[in-house]
Amino acid sequence: MIDYELTSAQKELRERTALFCASEIAPSASALDSAPRDEAGRIVREAIKKLGKAGYLDLLVNGDFVSRCVAGEELARSCPSTFFSAMYSGTSFGLAIKSFGSRAQQDRYLPGIISGERIGALACTEDSAGSDLSLIETRAELGGDKWILTGSKDFVTNAPVADFFLVSAWTDREAGCEKGLSFFVVDRGISGFDTTETVETMGLRGAPAAGIRLSRCSVPAGNLLGKAGQGHAILGCINEWLKISLSAMSLGIGVACMEVSTSYSKSRSAFGRPIGLFEGVGAKLAIMFTNNDLGRMLTLRAAWSMDRREAESSVLASCAKLFTSESANKTADLAMQVHGGHGYIKGTAIERLYRDARFAELACGTSEMQRAFIARDSLNR
Ligand SMILES: Cc1cc2nc3c(=O)[nH]c(=O)nc-3n(C[C@H](O)[C@H](O)[C@H](O)COP(=O)(O)OP(=O)(O)OC[C@H]3O[C@@H](n4cnc5c(N)ncnc54)[C@H](O)[C@@H]3O)c2cc1C
Repeated sequence: MIDYELTSAQKELRERTALFCASEIAPSASALDSAPRDEAGRIVREAIKKLGKAGYLDLLVNGDFVSRCVAGEELARSCPSTFFSAMYSGTSFGLAIKSFGSRAQQDRYLPGIISGERIGALACTEDSAGSDLSLIETRAELGGDKWILTGSKDFVTNAPVADFFLVSAWTDREAGCEKGLSFFVVDRGISGFDTTETVETMGLRGAPAAGIRLSRCSVPAGNLLGKAGQGHAILGCINEWLKISLSAMSLGIGVACMEVSTSYSKSRSAFGRPIGLFEGVGAKLAIMFTNNDLGRMLTLRAAWSMDRREAESSVLASCAKLFTSESANKTADLAMQVHGGHGYIKGTAIERLYRDARFAELACGTSEMQRAFIARDSLNR
């Protein structure tokens, strides 16, 4: 028997998150998108604190994957930027510390991340290393009881507002990716650490991103995450968490596009009737609904598999991420068409969602990389 029912706790979580987001997060979504960058940083900091108080960041650090997706869909439906920023803080930083950190690291970093008083970030990408992270140049050398980090990272979400950074670096380049990469926790403001100017992005503008520069930045030996050489394995886990998170985000964007379009189709009339009654418009709503429902099934199926630690969970997460991110773009495009010229005007919800949707296909493993991974998995079976 197949049971598609969420548990009563998960249903309650969905309702509670939806109510919270409607009153506390959605009203700032437009301002977060359009505000000057330093003002956007202030708004997102406040939003992260609210999410901490509401227990959402605790869920990202300690919760199961199905529950994260259920709540995450609701948050992304209200504000994709806030979702994205919280994801990097709670999931890529917080969950990595929870999963691989020492007791001392957990005590030092997790309380602030869970309460939302502190913000975390993940710094892997470099100017010449995106999809292929074996091309990074950042290195860490042991000097007495310190690691000396040298290099620079690009496109670090939360960098303008983050307190803590998880940074990938070579500890033994000769050993290659599988044994030579490591992760370090770097606190903002230590000597040799700097951030560049906030980058201007097309969408997700409320999740501020910048580069970081490490100039012989010295961190205590205790800031190594896990063991030296464990970076590749840690990155594999983080990638899987981010894939399922971006599936939930894309789904939330798809649902928001559908809702805005449905309501517009009822209120906008042409030729004597609401536009939703025209077959050309109604068909678009039908495609949006179907894509969202399919996306939700794939996302929850992959999350369920991750909770059960099944061997195929990673390929299922790739399928979910691939489908939902492409479908969010398609849905946003259809939603724009339903709105006619009115959707094309800056400041409308559809115009923002259309820009926000685009990034999921590029982030945390592009669609091409997901296809390559799924194909490799199939060929290896
Ligand atoms: C706003 C923003 C926020 C970000 N936040 C973070 C963050 O917080 N932390 C972080 O570490 N990074 C972050 N990134 C980086 C992001 O994850 C990378 O941009 C992404 O991984 C793609 O890398 P790239 O841009 O270097 O593209 P490239 O790797 O240069 O790829 C270019 C094109 O080549 C294709 N390609 C590459 N290799 C293959 C292959 N083997 N097969 C088929 N096609 C291939 C890609 O699919 C793509 O179409 C962020 C980026 C942005 C823009």
